[in-house]
Amino acid sequence: MTSRLCPQCGTSNAAGTALKYSYEKWLLKRCEECAFVYLENPPAYEDLETDLAWERVGKEREERVYQQSRVRSGASRTARMLRARLVLRSDPLVHRIERWFSAGPVVDIGCGRGDKLASLPKRFEVVGIEISQEQARLARERLVARGGVVHQMPAIEGLGRVRAQSLAGIVANAFLEHEIRPKELLEAAARALRPAGAMILKVPNFASVNRRVMGSGWCGFRFPGHVNYFTPRTLRRMVEDVGMEVAEFRWMDRIPTSDNMWMVVRRPSAV
Ligand SMILES: [Zn+2]
Repeated sequence: MTSRLCPQCGTSNAAGTALKYSYEKWLLKRCEECAFVYLENPPAYEDLETDLAWERVGKEREERVYQQSRVRSGASRTARMLRARLVLRSDPLVHRIERWFSAGPVVDIGCGRGDKLASLPKRFEVVGIEISQEQARLARERLVARGGVVHQMPAIEGLGRVRAQSLAGIVANAFLEHEIRPKELLEAAARALRPAGAMILKVPNFASVNRRVMGSGWCGFRFPGHVNYFTPRTLRRMVEDVGMEVAEFRWMDRIPTSDNMWMVVRRPSAV
């Protein structure tokens, strides 16, 4: 366990009162200086390397349900392919990838078993970053056939392995809320993106109606997996503070009735 300053502005809130949402020994603080909400005492990166990595549990469950539904359907190969295509087309992440990424190398931060990368069209060269040893091994197995690369390490370090200004796109789908150093991660992303490259972010929305209604029972609270709790305002501020530009953040991308929000960011356009 470590104790950290506000990841947005660097203020110490150690003397401040923890929010009522804090759970057991895990202290949630709202920065007195900038209002950013964060876990003050997150686990260290080393604790995330084993497959007990709690942040994966949700995704694994999702995948199991999907696989089971595929098996159950028992339909012909054609029907399955058709269904897969429909699922892909309606997938909000794939939709954004198609819209914002040009052909070239794409990094998925926190790629898990590499499912998303494996599903991308061949015009994308896929690179996964995954801290869990077991997930990274599975992702490697999965992606080797298409020449994919997987770095088993913390995300900032992984992005450091990528050549500067080389990436067509970066996916951080349900990742930034887990990152102990979110600002440094965004800086590393800005460095790795091509001038025309884009980054897709999806994070839980702490300002959602559901959080206000459900309180501590809100599905966005994960202790100690989620260490940053963004609102539309604090997410935009952090992105802009590192010199990135918000490319897409429509009302429907941050609608308060959803538990999550989507944002597409870019390096600032050349002047
Ligand atoms: Zn702050």
